[in-house]
Amino acid sequence: MRLHRLVVGLADRVFRCHLRPAVKTLFEKIYDGEIPAEIIHKDDFCCAFRDISPQAPTHVLIVPRKPVPRICEADAEDQTLLGHLLLTATAIARDLGLAESGFRIAINNGPHGGETVPHLHIHLLGGRQLEWPPG
Ligand code: AMP
Repeated sequence: MRLHRLVVGLADRVFRCHLRPAVKTLFEKIYDGEIPAEIIHKDDFCCAFRDISPQAPTHVLIVPRKPVPRICEADAEDQTLLGHLLLTATAIARDLGLAESGFRIAINNGPHGGETVPHLHIHLLGGRQLEWPPG
């Protein structure tokens, strides 16, 4: 049983790292400049751009360059990347003047979470009073 789990885990890792389909995700295309977006931050690990359908006066997506499909599929090797995404989101919130009024960062995972684009991203929302609990 342990061997089976090991083999399945290895196969999954090989698939995700080496046999991933060559088709880029929507957000990889935005990172690479193949699809236009209002990019407000870009570094070697992530980029941030305005959401095309904003749900608040400020609605920015922070997206890793690495196409991790969703937070559930991030693993230990993504730990530094996940920290970088959170710190980048917070720095952008500060730059956009949201630190004092407040803001929300959210990650949607899977159908019940409301995920529509299968490339991990953080939503940064602010500029109005946000409701809790979310709908
Ligand atoms: P989620 O529903 O959590 O997967 O979030 C996906 C987000 O991507 C939604 O808020 C969409 O409005 C946004 N989105 C989809 N296509 C684009 C695009 N071309 N440029 C910017 N944002 C996009």
